[in-house]
Amino acid sequence: MNKRIVILGSGESGVGAAVLAQAKGFDVFVSDKGAIKEKYKKQLNEYNIPFEELQHTEEKILNADEIIKSPGIPDKVELIKKLRAKNIPVISEIEFAGRYTSAKKICITGSNGKTTTTLLTHHILSKAGYNVGLGGNVGKSFAMQVAKENYDYYVLELSSFQLDDMFDFKADVAVLLNITPDHLDRYDYKFENYVDSKFRVVQNQTTEDAFIYCTDDVVITEHMEKHPVGGKLYPFSIKKQLDGEAAYLNEKNELIININQTQINMTIEQLALQGKHNVYNAMAAGIASRIVEVRKDAVRESLTDFVNAEHRLEFVATINGIEFINDSKATNVNSAWYALETMDKPVVWIAGGTDKGNDYTQLLDLVKGKVKAIVCLGLDNQKLIETFGSLVETIVEAKTAKEAVALSYQIGKKGDAVLLSPACASFDLFENYEDRGMQFKGAVRAL
Ligand code: ADP
Repeated sequence: MNKRIVILGSGESGVGAAVLAQAKGFDVFVSDKGAIKEKYKKQLNEYNIPFEELQHTEEKILNADEIIKSPGIPDKVELIKKLRAKNIPVISEIEFAGRYTSAKKICITGSNGKTTTTLLTHHILSKAGYNVGLGGNVGKSFAMQVAKENYDYYVLELSSFQLDDMFDFKADVAVLLNITPDHLDRYDYKFENYVDSKFRVVQNQTTEDAFIYCTDDVVITEHMEKHPVGGKLYPFSIKKQLDGEAAYLNEKNELIININQTQINMTIEQLALQGKHNVYNAMAAGIASRIVEVRKDAVRESLTDFVNAEHRLEFVATINGIEFINDSKATNVNSAWYALETMDKPVVWIAGGTDKGNDYTQLLDLVKGKVKAIVCLGLDNQKLIETFGSLVETIVEAKTAKEAVALSYQIGKKGDAVLLSPACASFDLFENYEDRGMQFKGAVRAL
C-alpha cells in the first residue's frame, strides 16, 4: 500500500505539498478546519486530490504515515497532540519539498527583514541570469515549484514555525538576520525556545555550507558560543569593521562586502533601500549572492535598483506637507523601532493591534525624542496608553484605519510624518497586515 500523507491546512503551502506528494505517488488527503479559498479548491480538484474543509475528520488523519502541517497551526491544538501521542511524524512543507530537489538553497530567517532580504537576494540572482525560484513564506509554494519547475537555486524565506517542523533539511546558505522577541505565545512565553527555533536554520550544515549572521546581535552571538554551528561563518556588522569574509561599514561609512577575495564597495546612499535595518538586509543579501558567485557588478547594480514589497516603510503620499508612511508589516516592537529610528521629522505614530506579549521599553527613548502624538489603532489600547501616555503631547484612539488617518491628519502639521508602524499584529481589527496597510493607504488617498 502507498504511504499515506495527510496535509493539514490548505493554503499556498498545503496545496503545493499535496501536488508534490501526489506526483511522488503517495496516498494524499488534505484537511482544513477552516474554509478553503476557491483558488485552492480549484487546484485540488484539477489534480483530483481528495480534501475536506471546515472540519478535521480524525479517522482520515490519524491513519497517516506522515503529516505535513501548515505553519499557521500551533502545536497546542488537540489534533496535533493526538498525532504526537501516536508518534506520527509532523513535518513542514519545506522539509517535505527539500527531499525532492538537489537545487542550492539559500534560506533566510530572523525576526525582522526576512521578506525584504529574501526578495532582494532573489532579485540579485534572477537579474544576474540565475535559474532561481522564490518560496517559503513569500511568493509561491516551494513544494509546488519542486513539483513543476526545474530551478537550480531557491531563495526561501523561513519563519520559525516552518523551522520547527524541519529535521533533515539542510540550507546550503543560511542567513540569520536578527533575533528579537516575537510570537512568544507559540513558544510557551520562553524566549530561549524561540531562539532555538531560529537556529534550526543551520541544522545539518557542514563546512561545505555557509552561515551568514549579524554579529551585532548579542542573542545570536551568545547562542553561537554555546552551540557552535557547522557551516562556514560569514558575519556582517554595521558597528565594527570585520576581517576575513564578511560585510561591514568602513571608516568612511561605506558598505564593504568581502567574499572570495573580491571586494564590493559602495556608499549607503547608493542602496535602493534606506534605513539602518536595510543596510543589514543588503549586507546579508550581498554576501549570499557573492557566495553563489554572482559577479560583483551585478550585485552592486541590483542593490541599487531593487524595489521592495508593499507595507514596508512604504511612502504613500505627501498631503499639505504631511508625509504618510505605511509600515503595516511592522508587527513587532523591534521592527517599529527601526521605523521610528529612520524618521527624521516629528512623527504622528499610528500603533497598536493584537499584542503578542510586547515589551515597549526599547521604544521609550525614540518615542520621547521623535513622536509628538500617538494614534492607537487597536481594540484594546490600554498598554500603549499606560506606557506612552505621559511621553507625548497627544494620545488618541481609533477603531478604523479611516478614523486613524483622519485623526493623524488633524494632529499633523506641515513637515510632520504620519507613520503607521503598529508593533502589533492586526487580527483584532483587520484581516491581516496587508488589509491594514491597504485600508490605511486608501484612507490617505481619500483625504
Ligand atoms: P519579515 O518578513 O521578517 O516580517 P519584512 O522584510 O517583511 O520582515 O519587514 C518587516 C518589518 O520589519 C518592516 O516594517 C520593516 O521596515 C522592518 N525591518 C526590515 N528589515 C529589518 C531588520 N533587518 N531589522 C529590523 N527591522 C526590519
